[in-house]
Amino acid sequence: MRRRRHCVRSRENLTWLNVPEAPSCDAACMWTYHADLLARPVPRYTSYPTAAQFHDGAGADDLAARLETLDTKTDISLYVHIPYCHDICWYCGCNTGAANRSQRLIAYVEALEQEIAGMARRLGGRGRVRRIAFGGGSPNSLPLVDFIRLLQQILLCFDAHQAEISVELDPRRLDRQWIASLATMGVSRVNLGVQTFAPHVQARIGRIQPLDMVEHAMEQLGGAGIATGFDLMYGLPGQSLDDLAATIEASIRLNPARVALFGYAHMPKLLPRQRRIDASDLPDIAARFEMAAMGYRMLTDAGYMAIGFDHFAQPEDSMAIALGEGRLRRNFQGFTDDPAEVLIGLGASAISQFPDLIVQNEKRAGSWRQLVEKDSLSAVRGTLRTADDRERGRIIEALLCRGEADVGPCPMPDLSRFEELALVEVAADRVLLKPQALPYARSIAACFDAWLQPAEKRFSHAV
Ligand code: SF4
Repeated sequence: MRRRRHCVRSRENLTWLNVPEAPSCDAACMWTYHADLLARPVPRYTSYPTAAQFHDGAGADDLAARLETLDTKTDISLYVHIPYCHDICWYCGCNTGAANRSQRLIAYVEALEQEIAGMARRLGGRGRVRRIAFGGGSPNSLPLVDFIRLLQQILLCFDAHQAEISVELDPRRLDRQWIASLATMGVSRVNLGVQTFAPHVQARIGRIQPLDMVEHAMEQLGGAGIATGFDLMYGLPGQSLDDLAATIEASIRLNPARVALFGYAHMPKLLPRQRRIDASDLPDIAARFEMAAMGYRMLTDAGYMAIGFDHFAQPEDSMAIALGEGRLRRNFQGFTDDPAEVLIGLGASAISQFPDLIVQNEKRAGSWRQLVEKDSLSAVRGTLRTADDRERGRIIEALLCRGEADVGPCPMPDLSRFEELALVEVAADRVLLKPQALPYARSIAACFDAWLQPAEKRFSHAV
């Protein structure tokens, strides 16, 4: 066991950021590094079962049956996937490709309009759309006029005029006109891919994005009354603790309502684009732990509330309120305050979720388009959630979102190592995570995962 402290040692190499002084990170932290608990790669549990259990025995017919029998008053969330980006970042694990051919984008948007209309027709007025989320890829890789077309198509086909609308955006392609149009169309929240402000790290991950570009975007988004979130990363090649501290400091100054701080997962065998990243430049697991702990400390010291294991929100943000009221959930977009039990995914690789079914649309944009053009549902794989899956999924979600769970009829796994380290308390059929267990939350939740194989390579480490 090694006890670590958060220290930002020197401010060398930080001339790119005009920070007056180092943050005071020398106080002892309650997080303790246990290498053995972090050795096993574990899923992020944005669903249970996870995508690793998807198979082609579940798909379009199962989805059709759920759509036909949906209760009229069921709340629905729509997720629209845009699998294109103008500049592909080397670290990216998303299903996205180069937006370098306008004909390809036009064909995708036309097919998406067709899929939206087809989905609405199948629902026949059942369900009420409460949220619409555009993700990718980068929705702003589309020409603005096409993005407007897609949103208008949704509003035309579904009863969605009261829906909360959010969009993931690439700041490198965001201009005044885009922001003004988002505000006019009623978009209330955007998430910006920031990752790091350190230029030498940006160069190592193929994402050059100067600080002032994000500053301008934030000024304009704030002026338009649109709430913002940042995605940041630690564990990047060549990234030091100081680099991360300065990025977090700059982020705090820019004042997004939410921050997600993700650990970079280097899996070049699964994600060939990551081969451009020099693995010898990557921080080791102990350094990653130190980065995650420092990020937690800096953001909570700045007044953000910790949401689960990697999100942070200002206290007045709806996600922080949901946490306080025990309504925090976990879905394919990560931690969320979205209460809907039904998520419908539109576009290539998008995932739809029902209480007893998860299905994913065809991943390859060309094959997806062929299915849509034949007026078929594009779901091609997934999983039917058994009663046991649903029960284990409930426990995993409760542990990750609320830090405690009633285990009920599910067999209690061996948590003795976590108990020994005072990370959990187990009483009768209840498991309680202690505050210092946060970096191990995924590892503890994984003990309830009946599908997880030892050392599955497709997952990342818990920090
Ligand atoms: S902009 Fe986002 S989605 Fe696109 S390649 Fe970069 S990280 Fe991936």
